Amino acid sequence: MWLFVSTKMTFHIITIFPEIFNSYFNESIIKRAQESGKIKIKIHNLRDYTKDKHKTVDDTPYGGGAGMVMKVDVLYKALRALRQQTADSRQQKIILLSAKGKTWNQPMAKEYTKYDDIILICGRYEGVDERILNFVDEEISIGDYVLTGGEIPAMAIVDSIARLIPGVVGNEMSPLDESHTESGVLEYPQYTRPEIFIDEKGEKYSVPDILKSGNHAEIKKWREKQKRKRLN
Ligand code: SAM
Repeated sequence: MWLFVSTKMTFHIITIFPEIFNSYFNESIIKRAQESGKIKIKIHNLRDYTKDKHKTVDDTPYGGGAGMVMKVDVLYKALRALRQQTADSRQQKIILLSAKGKTWNQPMAKEYTKYDDIILICGRYEGVDERILNFVDEEISIGDYVLTGGEIPAMAIVDSIARLIPGVVGNEMSPLDESHTESGVLEYPQYTRPEIFIDEKGEKYSVPDILKSGNHAEIKKWREKQKRKRLN
């Protein structure tokens, strides 16, 4: 199942707010994945590809209407520069983050582990000039709601792909046994200490007896049943 996982995956994120990524990508699993060389994350400031002194990345929409639209020429310049940097890439994919795109899911995250370079374009304002679709591979949404920008979707996509790369998540087995690994199947319920939790009304909440039985075959059976039960 993991035969075609890339061993040198680089995420390139094109954004006008590069600092947004500093916090999330410099903590925990994603930080360690970069330190150990399992993934690289490169943030590219779209304004670096402008040529006017105001570093303009947006303009008013043709036909009128609210807000501003991100310019195709500036984005194209950024994509061209990145294509040159990734020319020897075994496999690369360019994603435009967009509320009207195809909805991201776990099978797609798994499929993307085979790419060496994944370029993510974060929109802002009212979105991006439609002509950019001629130069991207996929238009991806992270759900049926509208966010202010593509930065949170980019973080979600990087995270969901990175944790499927062998060795990124501490316990090698855990990404294989999570919700959505098998289509429509969710993870079984998890418990940890205390064995009995008491709320402020004195109500007691216990851990299911089976999990304390030490009978691993029965625990496995119970967990399988719980996974299916959660589908209903
Ligand atoms: N006017 C656009 C529409 O109605 O579809 C929404 C633009 S939104 C305010 C600005 C940017 O945020 C988008 O260009 C896109 O990059 C990003 N974005 C917003 N919601 C998103 C979602 N659900 N999934 C992926 N990207 C999203």
